Amino acid sequence: MPDRPMISIENVSRYYGTYRALDDVSLEIGAGEFFSLLGPSGCGKTTLLRSIAGFDVPTAGEIRIDGTPCTLLPANRRPTNMVFQNYAIFPHLDVGENVAYGLKRLKLDAAEERRRVSDALDQVRLTGLDKRKANELSGGQRQRVALARALVMRPKVLLLDEPLSALDKKLREQMQVELRSLQKAVGITFILVTHDQYEALALSDRIAVMFGGRIAQVATPKEIYQRPRTRMVADFLGGMNFLQARLTSERSGSVSVETARFGTINLERPKGFAPTNGHVTVGIRPERLRLLWDDERAPHELVGRVENRAYFGEVTHLTIGVDGLEQPLSMVETNDYGADDLPLGAEIRLAYDPDAFVLLSEDERGARM
Ligand code: ATP
Repeated sequence: MPDRPMISIENVSRYYGTYRALDDVSLEIGAGEFFSLLGPSGCGKTTLLRSIAGFDVPTAGEIRIDGTPCTLLPANRRPTNMVFQNYAIFPHLDVGENVAYGLKRLKLDAAEERRRVSDALDQVRLTGLDKRKANELSGGQRQRVALARALVMRPKVLLLDEPLSALDKKLREQMQVELRSLQKAVGITFILVTHDQYEALALSDRIAVMFGGRIAQVATPKEIYQRPRTRMVADFLGGMNFLQARLTSERSGSVSVETARFGTINLERPKGFAPTNGHVTVGIRPERLRLLWDDERAPHELVGRVENRAYFGEVTHLTIGVDGLEQPLSMVETNDYGADDLPLGAEIRLAYDPDAFVLLSEDERGARM
């Protein structure tokens, strides 16, 4: 929970006809937080962002920004600014004119306007480029102009709708680092919409994962990756080996389950966890399984066969068949010891840490697709 909420979203729903694009969403985003709305296409993340911006009006519920009810307030009277996916910059204007555009309605004196434009250009590392025509800029520079144009308005909240999706992978990764340091430098609340889990993990202080118009989980990147609450969250955030298990004992803070080949596993009991018929799903990330080489031993081992192998440069992804398991296991191994050369069909031993398993809810209120 944030120390001081900058955005409070209370029971917000948005219907398009009978279709619920947002379904009773409640959320608090703190002052100075880098917050991401993450989810697959159509989950409602853009609708939620547009409702915060004032470009869309919820059918029900309330939105407060810095304590002020804003649900019906027009976009230009909110302390928010939005950076769009397609930048929306004017190609015929130069960089300075583009950045100054929104300031015109504030009727500042010329010196103050120039100072604010030059501050905003400094913030996005475009110092001295104010006379450059916007159509003579690279993709990364255009993106910076779009950011400067929003920052020059000194908003309390910057809203970013997939701002990096038009950039190629390398530039996108570079801009992610810049966006993160920019947010820390300006100190205002950033809310990013993305369907890219790595982008959300790398940038955010906290992430809300959305499915079907609902929020499935809100947590820090580490928590959401390592302790996903549901199968869908686990799956969306990266690879996960899912295993069916039987609940054997239940205490207030923990549970024990019995699995086909991993034996008895003791797990932390997530809040609100309710198993159906004693059957549960547990998960372990592929990188938490490790190959054992030569006569290396581990406290917890399994024997399997290499069914598939994909080389990714620094790592190799392996699919391991294990007798008695319904599904083969996915593993990620560094190539230091030759995982990339393992022949298909080779018998291997793998080590696992029982503490790396998580207990997952099969479906919950956020799981409507
Ligand atoms: P994407 O990443 O594809 O933009 P999203 O998660 O941002 O997806 P939204 O754009 O918020 O999703 O849309 C949520 C749902 O609401 C979608 O099913 C979409 O088709 C629907 N929707 C959005 N805007 C409208 C509209 N103006 N009229 C009818 N349905 C709409």
